[in-house]
Amino acid sequence: MSYVDEIYAKVVEQNPGEPEFHQAVKEVLDSLRLVIDANEDRYRKEGILERFTEPERVVSFRVPWVDDKGNVQVNKGYRVQFNSAIGPYKGGLRFHPSVNQSILKFLGFEQVLKNSLTGLPMGGGKGGSNFDPKGKSDREVMSFCQSFMTELYRHIGKDADVPAGDIGVGGREIGYLFGQYKRITKLYEGVLTGKGLTFGGSLARTQATGYGLVYILDEMLKANGKELAGKTVLVSGSGNVAIYACEKAQQLGAKVVSMSDSNGYIYDPDGIQLDVVKDIKEVRRGRIKEYVDAVPTAKYTEGKGVWTIPADIALPCATQNELNLEDAKTLLANGVFAVAEGANMPSTREATDLFVEKKILFMPGKAANAGGVATSGLEQSQNSLRLSWTFEEVDQRLQNIMKDIFAKADDAAKRYGVPGNYVAGANIAGFEKVVDAMLAQGIV
Ligand code: NDP
Repeated sequence: MSYVDEIYAKVVEQNPGEPEFHQAVKEVLDSLRLVIDANEDRYRKEGILERFTEPERVVSFRVPWVDDKGNVQVNKGYRVQFNSAIGPYKGGLRFHPSVNQSILKFLGFEQVLKNSLTGLPMGGGKGGSNFDPKGKSDREVMSFCQSFMTELYRHIGKDADVPAGDIGVGGREIGYLFGQYKRITKLYEGVLTGKGLTFGGSLARTQATGYGLVYILDEMLKANGKELAGKTVLVSGSGNVAIYACEKAQQLGAKVVSMSDSNGYIYDPDGIQLDVVKDIKEVRRGRIKEYVDAVPTAKYTEGKGVWTIPADIALPCATQNELNLEDAKTLLANGVFAVAEGANMPSTREATDLFVEKKILFMPGKAANAGGVATSGLEQSQNSLRLSWTFEEVDQRLQNIMKDIFAKADDAAKRYGVPGNYVAGANIAGFEKVVDAMLAQGIV
């Protein structure tokens, strides 16, 4: 049995009831076979894959808090500290009823490779709770966040573990968490990222994931003799990533013709008017269908179907598994030649396999949306320096990081004889750096 298959069987056996974690390990290890097979003897002797697939630490704790009726509620809290070979753990906190240890281990595992790709000194972690902030009052959210941090503070610190936001954890939650950390520890330090601009947040963090996605897309196109200007682009979603992907694509001369939300999608053949979308989504918190009220020449369609619109490039920026095998076939039949993932895991495994097999230009989320965590890393740097960089300074660093990620994925794919396979390239490049650091640091 190959080392990869042996380890995968062990992970399944030793982590019962954790299907998401099993799936992530399988997908990553499968794409790393080339590098693992080439180094099998050394990696086996050093137990590299055993260590790579076992989190350094998983903390699980009780989070009691009082609701507005005066009743005590209890949620589960977690922090998965997966790998600190190349830096303090870094990764978001997710507050959502679906949160469990399997999902957080899957996300933490992926985060190790994503953070490595950014070139910044960040290990991988993830955390959160099955608490649902939807429908809760500000006071209830604060009560929950304070209780959550009253345990979490023991495990984190600016040089140990620096959490950020994720689903259900935005500026409000980060503010409450930061306030409680400071109060308990007496430390005013960059222990969390995604903070407000008045207390250590970074300019350009809001734009970072969407802008970064388009920067790396642009690099991938140029490296393959193509350009973004004049191309027709599909964007799905209309949240943070989608809006700023659309903005940057337009600035670079592309025509974005679609956006969506979980109810339906809009098609504007004249090009999306982003000020209208921002007003609906960022100001009024409305639905994407309201776009056609302002732009009657555009069309709104209820339900799925954004991937049926003919275009050159697709940027899935909504959610996981939003682009399946059928969608992938439709995109290819309609002439799409490049796909870059703004969301985490938006393409199903089958869709990804088809893109790779057909050799279109496909940049996986791990590389394509890394601009978000990279800019969180830049927020950490600014906090340590006690300085605030301008928007332009942060944006320039982000551009350089995305160029560098492309170069690393491209180079690794070429070195292992699969040029243009950026799925393998991104995983290999991220993995090599982490393994090198693990080997150098001895048996830990
Ligand atoms: P938002 O919550 O701001 O936006 C998500 C968008 O996707 C909304 O328009 C939402 O519509 C839509 N959506 C959600 N579910 C579906 C669905 N089933 N079908 C169609 N549309 C749907 O999130 P973000 O933009 O921040 O994140 C989007 C993705 O990018 C996520 O996968 C996230 O993990 C990933 N990501 C985000 C980063 C960041 O910095 N923000 C960094 C790296 C990755 P609705 O309003 O109807 O819910």
